Amino acid sequence: MSYTPPTDPTNKQPVKLSQLCEICHSRKAIIRRPKNLQKICKLCFYHVFETEIHNTIVSTKLFYPGETVAVGASGGKDSTVLAYIMKLLNERHHYGINIVLLSVDEGIVGYRDDSLATVKRNQKQYNLPLEIVSYKELYNWTMDEIVEIVGIRNSCTYCGVLRRQALDRGANKLGIKHVVTGHNADDMAETVLMNILRGDVARLEKSTAILTESNGSPIKRSKPFKYMYQKEIVLYAHYKKLDYFSTECTYAPEAFRGTAREYMKNLEAIRPSCIIDIIHSGENLVLKPKQAKKKTTVKKSTANKNKIQNENTEDNKQVFVDGNRCERCGYLSSNKICKACILLEGLEMNRPKVNVSNAHEDSEDGAAKNLRTLERLHF
Ligand code: SF4
Ligand SMILES: [Zn+2]
Ligand SMILES: [Zn+2]
Repeated sequence: MSYTPPTDPTNKQPVKLSQLCEICHSRKAIIRRPKNLQKICKLCFYHVFETEIHNTIVSTKLFYPGETVAVGASGGKDSTVLAYIMKLLNERHHYGINIVLLSVDEGIVGYRDDSLATVKRNQKQYNLPLEIVSYKELYNWTMDEIVEIVGIRNSCTYCGVLRRQALDRGANKLGIKHVVTGHNADDMAETVLMNILRGDVARLEKSTAILTESNGSPIKRSKPFKYMYQKEIVLYAHYKKLDYFSTECTYAPEAFRGTAREYMKNLEAIRPSCIIDIIHSGENLVLKPKQAKKKTTVKKSTANKNKIQNENTEDNKQVFVDGNRCERCGYLSSNKICKACILLEGLEMNRPKVNVSNAHEDSEDGAAKNLRTLERLHF
């Protein structure tokens, strides 16, 4: 049986009923939606993709009129689509926000230099202001130099901590209090899974939040793509012919995340909805209330009481309240010394050893020690 679509007079080719878009029932379906395997046409794909993001933004009241929002732009597919969509939806639905592109130059030759060239082209294509902050400028280290010391295995741990602060500092410099990032549903499901596998309850609790605010920082983060599948973001970028950079970072993702990613992909192949299902599970997890520490021992004796009070005072010295500043760099931090400074201190200690033959062994020890220190801190 053949059928000529009524709303597509330019298409003279008959379309079989079985080939019609399952949404508009008039155009030929050319995409099987990765999220639900629905067969749809290109225009309906654009419509559902953009509408889902708009609905997420509106239902979570992500922005307010007059707000200035920085898009963390790396030149990759996720952040390029994010910048494009934010501009499109802002104009279409009158959010009334101002959008700025904010990029971090980690100093990774052959990767970040090329991807930043893409961001600079995006800046012109979308006519948005662009600010670039670099690790070299902020920390006097490039990621390439850091990897020489700590090895590839630890690269993402260092890079993640430094990038988080770099984005914060960039936003702070521009007087912006809200950074949006291109983290998608696959990233979020992966993170939920990793936190479950590690038993990291503190992080599990926050891992599905669309908006996060950390102690000691006035800058909030949000993920408007939290329900968007990575495959759909790629399809959207492809059909819209967006200019993005597709090379992977020279330093592969950490082994544990890489394994979780692989596992997710296998699950998705069997059951496409599993990505959203894992996010929903994470959102609905109710964790046991935290037990107050040391309460029972306080009653034992006055001596013990005094001792515990002293211990608590010592603890409080480590945990600073919001608005405090790192003793080293002066940047806002909820701890006495910020995470970035702890890592940088370890790197500085190892810097002169780069040229001696056993440098790698020493640096591995230094890196491990630093990571242990980080884990003990409250953030
Ligand atoms: S893959 Fe790791 S090292 Fe490369 S940019 Fe991402 S976090 Fe940094
Ligand atoms: Zn359609
Ligand atoms: Zn610091």
